[in-house]
Amino acid sequence: MVNEVMYMTSMQYKEGKFDKVVIPLGSTESHGYHLPIGCDTLIASKLAKRVADQCEGMLVLPPLQVSYSKHYDSFPFSMSLGYETTGRVIYDYIESAIRNGIDRILLISNHDGNIAPCEYATRCIKEKYPNARIMACDWWVGISKHLPENFFEIYNGMGHGGEFETSAAYYLFKELCKPEHAANIIPELPEYIEAKWDFSELTDRGQTGGALAGTEEKGKIMIETAVSLIVKDIKALEAKNWDYTTPGHCQKPLV
Ligand SMILES: [Zn+2]
Repeated sequence: MVNEVMYMTSMQYKEGKFDKVVIPLGSTESHGYHLPIGCDTLIASKLAKRVADQCEGMLVLPPLQVSYSKHYDSFPFSMSLGYETTGRVIYDYIESAIRNGIDRILLISNHDGNIAPCEYATRCIKEKYPNARIMACDWWVGISKHLPENFFEIYNGMGHGGEFETSAAYYLFKELCKPEHAANIIPELPEYIEAKWDFSELTDRGQTGGALAGTEEKGKIMIETAVSLIVKDIKALEAKNWDYTTPGHCQKPLV
């Protein structure tokens, strides 16, 4: 399906009658010795494309390839924009869509460093464009409860380049991965409160988690589950013209 703006002409864009966009949010940073440095961008982009293929009228914008990665800076080859710059860039991506007449926005991220800038950008957009409909998905968060019981073997799948991310990468771009260099590195962190670590405090190879338990089969289930959950939500929004306000209780109705 022709739905990626990078690969279409203006005429194809006009003919496509797009009314919503998806913005993949990635990073450029080390993912250890077994996954490519562009891992986050590749996963976010491929996930966004699969979602758009099932959502009529959804345009895939170019991925955010470099964002906030200073907490991974000790490992090559990490590139980083500052937190404020990243937030401004996400804001400008969204505002570009709005200036093109599209204010239904889906953000799909595969990178922890995008969480705060994304929050900043979307709050600022809602201040300036109250009628914009902004949906954000940090797709690794909360997906576990939609997967079969005991799906992950190590560290609940988490970590940077751990069982979760390794599985997604093996499924989506195995040809770029080097499974022979994967390792298990399990950090000992507080369970409920959150340590604000620099990655060099947790690992000497730019990776944590149970990468040795990552498999293509798990990745397939995870990606297919995420795509179906996101598509289901988008279709439900479409059915009510993206009006998610609470009937009878909304103080500021969407126009
Ligand atoms: Zn990553």
